[in-house]
Amino acid sequence: MFKYRDGDTAKKILAAIKDTGVESKFMHVCGTHQDTIVRFGLEELLADAGVEICQGPGCPVCVTTSKEVAEAITLARNGVTVTAFGDMMRVPTTVGSLFDAKADGADVRIVYSIEDAVKMASEQTKPLVFISVGFETTAPSTCVPLKKGNLPENFSIYSCHRICPPILDAIFDMGEIRMNGMIMPGHVAVITGTEPFKVYSEKYGMPQVVAGFEPLDMLMAAYMLTKQREEGRAEVENEYTRLVKPNGNPIAKKLMEETFVPVDREWRGFPTIPKSALALKPKYAEHDANIVHKDILALTPEVEAEAKGCKCGEVLRGLIKSEECPMFGTACKPSSPKGPCMVSEEGNCSIAYRFSGKR
Ligand code: SF4
Repeated sequence: MFKYRDGDTAKKILAAIKDTGVESKFMHVCGTHQDTIVRFGLEELLADAGVEICQGPGCPVCVTTSKEVAEAITLARNGVTVTAFGDMMRVPTTVGSLFDAKADGADVRIVYSIEDAVKMASEQTKPLVFISVGFETTAPSTCVPLKKGNLPENFSIYSCHRICPPILDAIFDMGEIRMNGMIMPGHVAVITGTEPFKVYSEKYGMPQVVAGFEPLDMLMAAYMLTKQREEGRAEVENEYTRLVKPNGNPIAKKLMEETFVPVDREWRGFPTIPKSALALKPKYAEHDANIVHKDILALTPEVEAEAKGCKCGEVLRGLIKSEECPMFGTACKPSSPKGPCMVSEEGNCSIAYRFSGKR
């Protein structure tokens, strides 16, 4: 691991970027990339070399809408055991959070895997829902128990899974950000491969580099994008060759194809994005919470897209930095979050609060 953190190599890469004389703005769409950039102080180093970095919608908990969280809360408040990963529990909405529901007596539990949730369901008769969240990286793990079969009858899944490529269309079509290249998430590409991203270089003339998560991975990605710009190229290059193959992981992709169907869905901060979310296929209807619990879900009250004053939508679209939100570090902190970007470990605001020293 430490060879990917070598300071002398970092200086050489930064000098090579600076030597090109090309100034750029690159976007990434990954909470783990943001963590590396802020934690290791790369933002300032890259800025000095002529590269500005901005973060797009890369945190799966953050892009889950308030409506989806409110639906999970409604299930919990109406006699369903709701299980989810810890980050989901504190996401605030205008009707509270899952933890608020738990404090009021609802049966809400943190789990560390979908298997935990299946086991809990097998130990009770009350209906139990697992809130599944994540991009291509985690979606295959949701498929496994469904594929194995013999699930408890009282177990169902509320899928908030989203997939990465369609959000690129939304970002480029909205045209709010003038960027010169994209750093693509290595863990997503481990599953998808690099092929699905090619269309965006062809359609929008956008240089792209799939990158790993160590500091030198990020710097190399910035260098490779800068060279593409210097040489007038717009391609998908792979910096993360130690794990990413052009065709990705065929077993995981097949599993996802057999389990999910892409559907249109809103993302926090974005309008409805065609075929950007994953719903369970009809053959799994008996374990699809949207079908099993449709009468309860219909009771969900209207919620605001964001808490009053929260700018998570603009943060997720890369329009502002977390520190530019008036509530950052004052009314909104990890101990009193006003939006999901301050809740999730992968959230831009949480990362900025913990590592940037700008509070
Ligand atoms: Fe929302 Fe808090 Fe981030 Fe502001 S600092 S955008 S209120 S999560």
